[in-house]
Amino acid sequence: MLDPAAIVATPAPGRACGACTLCCKVYDVPAVESVAGQWCRHTRAGQGCGIHATRPQHCRSFHCLWMTESWLGPEWKPDRAKMVLTLDPVSRSMNVQVDPGQPNVWRREPYYGQLRRWAAASLPLKRHVLVHHNKTTTLVLPDRDVTLGVFAEGDRLVSRERMTAGGMTVDVEKVSPVG
Ligand code: SF4
Ligand code: SF4
Repeated sequence: MLDPAAIVATPAPGRACGACTLCCKVYDVPAVESVAGQWCRHTRAGQGCGIHATRPQHCRSFHCLWMTESWLGPEWKPDRAKMVLTLDPVSRSMNVQVDPGQPNVWRREPYYGQLRRWAAASLPLKRHVLVHHNKTTTLVLPDRDVTLGVFAEGDRLVSRERMTAGGMTVDVEKVSPVG
């Protein structure tokens, strides 16, 4: 679903990975046969990449949202938050890839409340906040979470507004290609 190599951005002034290496655990990196959910074998805990000078382009290109956006506070640094934030370069939806060692960390504060506020701000723009635990996705809405499961090729999200006694709400579902 997410191709980190498609996200090429410049770090914000003063931002540096430091001891963080979480993106070396949560994504597939085929060039070094690293599988999402397990540390890449080249990761050096608290130090970074053991093959820094020759690391794949995939790794050189990637910067998480905390690295590129100075408005994200220190609590969102991935090695502290235990989640890596990115914006989808096409849909502009927010992807939250959690450390599979702490799959429920996103439900804790201050994270959960902020994810819901971002969801509320994103919905009118037909953008979403998506939490991924390995390949399993949960959609965060302003008032509830929706388990979407694993996305297959061609799956997409469809939003529909619905009037309730408490006002307008939005339903979002995953739709698969017909046939
Ligand atoms: S998750 Fe972000 S801060 Fe951490 S190592 Fe990767 S790019 Fe750097
Ligand atoms: S090659 Fe280096 S930068 Fe790339 S995933 Fe492995 S440890 Fe991280």
